[in-house]
Amino acid sequence: MKKVLLHACCAVCAAYPIRFLRSEGYEPVVYFYNPNIYPEIEYKRRLDELVAYSKKEDFELYFEELKTEDFEKNTKGYEKEPEKGKRCEKCFYLRLGKTAQKAKELSIDRFTTTLTVSPHKVTRQIFEAGNTISKETGIEFLPYDFKKKDGFKITQQIAKENNMYKQTYCGCKYSIREVKQ
Ligand code: SF4
Repeated sequence: MKKVLLHACCAVCAAYPIRFLRSEGYEPVVYFYNPNIYPEIEYKRRLDELVAYSKKEDFELYFEELKTEDFEKNTKGYEKEPEKGKRCEKCFYLRLGKTAQKAKELSIDRFTTTLTVSPHKVTRQIFEAGNTISKETGIEFLPYDFKKKDGFKITQQIAKENNMYKQTYCGCKYSIREVKQ
C-alpha cells in the first residue's frame, strides 16, 4: 500500500480521515505536530487520546514535543486576527510545512491533513498552504476535503463510540478567547 503522512490535530479529527484513506488504498502514517495548542495540559490530552487510538486502530504514529515558541514566532503580529483570518493561514503553513519535512525524513512521498474535516476552518486556506509547501518541497499534497461525504458527522460518531476526549476550542490561546466571547 502507498503510504501517506497524515497530519493530525487530534484523535477526533483523525478518525474519519484514517478510515477514508484506508478505503482509498493508502496506508496512513499519522503525525502530531501542533505547537499552536495551549495550554500544555491540553496538548497532552489531545496527544494521549491519539496514542490510545493508534493502538486501537493499529496505525503508525509520530509526534513532537510541544514547542510553543514555534507557533508564537510564526504568528507574531497576527495575535488579534479573528479565527479564519491571517493567523490561521500562518498556523496551517507552519504545521503542514513541518509535516512535509517529516514525510521527507520518513521517505513518504505524499502528505495530507485532518484539518479539512472541520466545518469551522476554511478549506481554501488549508489547500493553499498544502499546495505551496508541495511546490517548495517536492512532496505531493493530497487535497482531500474530509468533511465531504458526511465526513464531519462520521468522525464525530466514531469519537462518540470510542468515548474520545473532545475539545471545545480550536487550539491556540486566541481561540479560547473567541469561544468565551
Ligand atoms: S484559531 Fe486554530 S487554526 Fe487559527 S491560529 Fe489558532 S489554533 Fe491555529
